[in-house]
Amino acid sequence: MIRQYELVERVKSYDPNADEDALNRAYVFSLRAHGSQKRASGDPYFSHPLEVAGILTDMRLDSASIITALLHDTVEDTQTSLEDIQKMFGEEIARLVDGVTKLSKIELQNVQNKQAENFRKLVVAMSEDIRVLLVKLADRAHNMRTLHFIKDPDKRRRIALETLEIYAPLAERIGMQAVKDELEDLAFAEMYGDARASIIARLNFLRAKGDNVIGRIIDELMETFSKNGIPTQILGREKTPYSIWRKMQRRNVEFEQLADVMAFRVVVDNVEQCYQCLGIVHGQYPVVPGRFKDYISTPKPNGYKSLHTAVIGPEKERIEIQIRTREMHEISEMGVAAHWQYKQGEGLKEGKHYRWLRQLLEILDQAESPEEFLEHTKLEMYQDQVFCFSPKGDLVALPRGATPVDFAYEVHSAVGDACVGAKINGRIVPLRTILKNGDQVEIITSKSQTPSPTWEEFVVTGKAKSRIRKFVRTQKRSQYMNLGKSLMQKTFRQEGKPLSDKMLEPVLKKFGSITVDDLYALIGEGMHTAHNVLLAVYPEEKIATQPLPSAEQMARPAAKKTTGHSLPIKGLIPGMALHFAKCCHPLPGDRIVGLVTTGKGVTIHTNDCDVLQSFIDQPDRWLDVSWEAPQVLPDKHISRIAVVIANEPGSLGSLSTVIGKTSGNITNLRITTRSTDFFEIIVDVEVKDLNHLTEIMAALRATPVIHSVERASA
Ligand code: MN
Repeated sequence: MIRQYELVERVKSYDPNADEDALNRAYVFSLRAHGSQKRASGDPYFSHPLEVAGILTDMRLDSASIITALLHDTVEDTQTSLEDIQKMFGEEIARLVDGVTKLSKIELQNVQNKQAENFRKLVVAMSEDIRVLLVKLADRAHNMRTLHFIKDPDKRRRIALETLEIYAPLAERIGMQAVKDELEDLAFAEMYGDARASIIARLNFLRAKGDNVIGRIIDELMETFSKNGIPTQILGREKTPYSIWRKMQRRNVEFEQLADVMAFRVVVDNVEQCYQCLGIVHGQYPVVPGRFKDYISTPKPNGYKSLHTAVIGPEKERIEIQIRTREMHEISEMGVAAHWQYKQGEGLKEGKHYRWLRQLLEILDQAESPEEFLEHTKLEMYQDQVFCFSPKGDLVALPRGATPVDFAYEVHSAVGDACVGAKINGRIVPLRTILKNGDQVEIITSKSQTPSPTWEEFVVTGKAKSRIRKFVRTQKRSQYMNLGKSLMQKTFRQEGKPLSDKMLEPVLKKFGSITVDDLYALIGEGMHTAHNVLLAVYPEEKIATQPLPSAEQMARPAAKKTTGHSLPIKGLIPGMALHFAKCCHPLPGDRIVGLVTTGKGVTIHTNDCDVLQSFIDQPDRWLDVSWEAPQVLPDKHISRIAVVIANEPGSLGSLSTVIGKTSGNITNLRITTRSTDFFEIIVDVEVKDLNHLTEIMAALRATPVIHSVERASA
């Protein structure tokens, strides 16, 4: 086990400004919190967070990351609460520890193979801060090192598989090549131990054949290139047993040659030199047929560029050579960034994600000022998405802001149509609740349910929107049809004329309809009058035409009730009628705007009222207005709020009690949405002003049965 002072020394060796005191406190805190807990290995549990911290010091991370590593399992596995951490170590550490704890929780989900990509995105999205991800990867690395102590073979296998599919690729993507190799190797040992053993035996055999063969090959290649006047950097690397195995699997071949084991990378300054080097190699050494690939002229889908070839090289061994520019090399080292951007359809331009990754790599390589950088590094990938689990553990990716209704439609349109309620992480919630990363969502359905038009206000996915709209359209049409039919029946009856569907058929075309139902719907919608249809069906009859009400009559000016001198609003033209908008219910204290309607006067709206949007191109109708001083104002205004309240005995009682206690007076109350678990209620309350309303809303929010309170705008 690393001793306390050793750990602090290590951090201070690369970060002289590290918070030594906090490191010491975290060490002691974690040691005490884990107490006598033991690992599967029989070691004291504390050895685990300590080793994780050790791995992170190898990566030269800031002291906040090291402290987080020490504390990372205390909230999940001991009596410690997040508040304890916050009190002891502050906001930043608490946030980081909370992040790692949340990641540990989603780990318990059973993830299907095909969803690995989504799961990786979820991990990234939930990490938010790069340090959370780094601690998690180090945690996984140590758990993999001690995997063989776990007795249950199924559990070992599950962890190993998850490591291969989720964590090793993540490590690779953020440039932790060493961690990635280690994770893969340990998982490989668990899952295909025999294959790994035989590959290692072959590797040892090949290595034994020549001493420093790699060095000699590099030297000779360097000399060849420099003779031709091209400065190069050459990197020789032995492939890992896992990558050799993958290659053998992909190509379905045995490995026999050094070419299967060694890769040489020639790094040059520009593309021209890449092709020059290729020419030199092909001129100097016998080419292995069928191995040349030009990924420069045709990059791989993830943006990877290089020239690949294989030759019988300096030592008369087959060797694989990759030739690339420095820039191509950097991009290939952080393959993901390119990959992510490609996925997002942004091509390979230097988006912010890519820059972020590049900077991160530079920091990890040079570690000049890790603290400053890491502190301001937030993971922005996938912040526009949210990833949720179905009860079976399937991952569903949705746009941010999605609700259980979106989730239901994403699963299946029939599930969406029949949705009556939802549970998130086992708790019943209103359908308009916004989903969070890692939420487990269960949709409650009922055969008799149909989509509610109100859902359209809060769903965000196109799928949900179009289904709901389609349903609302069909529903509206059937309402219009019924209305149209009864209008026709009434009109025909008044004139003493029989009516049947058959009689309408000859006049359908005249009214732009194909079926009788179309005609009914158009009449219901007000596109045609029943009277005109009657005239068309009985053209020979003289039926008195009913005069329509004139437009003037319909827009009759509202009665003017307010008198000139007691107007509560400043900025009005004297004599103008004043109304308060029924959409936004403005209150003294709200910022307001007047809207002039000819023959109607001025209507006062709140500044942010949606209705104003449709008058944006008519500035001459807008009036600058403001509230009078408080003493001039009448002391009663109607405000409107929307309350979501649990459907429980007595919940309405507590609503009215709270409003009464805060001296509000309920003048109207209407339930707009009723489900088995929640009501949405629109409440009209008489209040003095905005402050009064704010006070009432705060009191309501503090009431347990009340789920949410918002000002209503309808
Ligand atoms: Mn752990």
